[in-house]
Amino acid sequence: MKQPQITRPVTSEVEGMAQATTRRHFLLGAAAGTIAAVIPGQNMASAETSGEIQITEPFHGAVLNHRHGEQTNDGLRIRVSGQAPLRDRVTVNGSPAEREGTSFVSHIVLREKQTEIVAVSEGSFGRAEHRVRVVWDKQSQPRYRFSIDDNSFFLRDIAQKKYGSLFECFYLKGLRELNSKYGARFVLNIYYTTEDGFELPQFPDRYKAEWRDNCEWLRLAFHAYANKPDRPYQYAPAAQLIADLDKVAEQIHRFAGEQTYSPPTVIHWGQVQPTALKPLYERGVRALSGYFRWAGAGWDVNYLFDDARSEYLSRHDALMDFESGIVFSRVDIICNNVPLERIAPTLDESAKDPKEAEILDLFTHEQYFWPFYSNYVPDHFQRLDAAIRWATEHGYKPIFFHEGFLGGPQ
Ligand SMILES: [Zn+2]
Repeated sequence: MKQPQITRPVTSEVEGMAQATTRRHFLLGAAAGTIAAVIPGQNMASAETSGEIQITEPFHGAVLNHRHGEQTNDGLRIRVSGQAPLRDRVTVNGSPAEREGTSFVSHIVLREKQTEIVAVSEGSFGRAEHRVRVVWDKQSQPRYRFSIDDNSFFLRDIAQKKYGSLFECFYLKGLRELNSKYGARFVLNIYYTTEDGFELPQFPDRYKAEWRDNCEWLRLAFHAYANKPDRPYQYAPAAQLIADLDKVAEQIHRFAGEQTYSPPTVIHWGQVQPTALKPLYERGVRALSGYFRWAGAGWDVNYLFDDARSEYLSRHDALMDFESGIVFSRVDIICNNVPLERIAPTLDESAKDPKEAEILDLFTHEQYFWPFYSNYVPDHFQRLDAAIRWATEHGYKPIFFHEGFLGGPQ
């Protein structure tokens, strides 16, 4: 596969991702400057003169586990830090914080699933406070979720060839081999149509028993109505997204059954209107994945999140959006974009950082499996094997994000 050049504009979802993986560290450096300029209270001067107090860590919506503090039977002890006016007295959840210049530091113990952290400053400007809420993933264990986007060709292939079994299609056969070998689970995010005459209603229901027999590891979810246009839901009304979702969901239920149905895990291009999140939650969505990448002029494949949250997600596993109830997850690797020999080193890199090490969001796109596709990747299955082997050997368990809390016990 051709590697896109750094200066080339993003022309497609899948190509754009190469930039995200190869440019990430460079871009984060560039982005950090942008963010510092837009978050009020982030620099010492503004904290001192404006009377603002701000908790800088943990971040509002942070999903915290044993890697983020000291976990005991009692709870998770974490560090809370931030900025406040120089001479103010600061308390965090009622206890005096340590001061050093305009910084403050305190420790609290999370005992509930969600905890509100309240930092209060009192001094010559009066009283001010900042509240953030965090989620404790108490039972967290290392786990991985594998999702594959842009699926449609395998359904057309099975419908046209009228195979005796779903697994006569080389694509599903390859995925089943990875399941037999490693216990891997896959969620396939599908389109309604391939736009050349094939639509889901043409897919027969005679494989229903086979879908059911494999639902422990193989699920289907809505991704978009079709591959084109690009960014179909970025500016679409929520009602259109939900109507397309319902159309695909109905078909999955018809031909594969309820057990195989998964709520959406990634919406095509990872961009939706903020007003669509609540309706998605109502359709069972508990987690959505994106790239949260810096794309030169702004953050992209980031569900239109603001800069601060996008930047946070670019270097963390997950973030809770309390307004919708959906947890957002950052994709760790896009197998179609990472050469085989770079798969393990890329995952090694993620695992080194406690902020990214616990939950692996493994990902790729269906089209690269097909020899007729212009950017066909002949060793695509070997790449998946390398990623899943790495996860297995490092103690990560295969899960689905929509079960439990991000696939772990609630
Ligand atoms: Zn897509």
